[in-house]
Amino acid sequence: MPVSGLPPYDPNNIFARILRGEIPCKKVHEDAHTLAFHDIAPQAPVHVLVIPKGAYVSMADFTARAPAEEQAAFLRAVGEVARQLGLEAAGYRVLSNMGQHGGQEVPHLHVHIFGGRPLGKMLAKE
Ligand code: AMP
Repeated sequence: MPVSGLPPYDPNNIFARILRGEIPCKKVHEDAHTLAFHDIAPQAPVHVLVIPKGAYVSMADFTARAPAEEQAAFLRAVGEVARQLGLEAAGYRVLSNMGQHGGQEVPHLHVHIFGGRPLGKMLAKE
């Protein structure tokens, strides 16, 4: 079921182009339903993005429309990447920006994984 208030999926967003192989990425993990790659402008020593391969804009969109198998694979991929990058012992942050107030720049659902240093408070003060 479509989510009200959601912009239509833009098939030319940068992550859609990465998924089509039109632009390169530094891949960390791939399975049938997900891709993970290093952020092009890292904000921490480790900064990886995990995306579903399907055309979803936000978490609300994804959980409304994606088959259970794709949803499970996405969550599993986040944990797999954290394990693969050895982040568990020191800790890390998982963050997802959605829409205008969330500051989402790329309108394809993605989760950021940050690590490699103490990350400070969750939100910057206004
Ligand atoms: P957000 O603000 O949550 O939409 O984050 C989008 C992220 O995508 C930013 O951290 C960008 O640095 C990152 N990004 C943009 N283009 C690329 C690219 N070609 N490869 C990897 N990361 C990218």
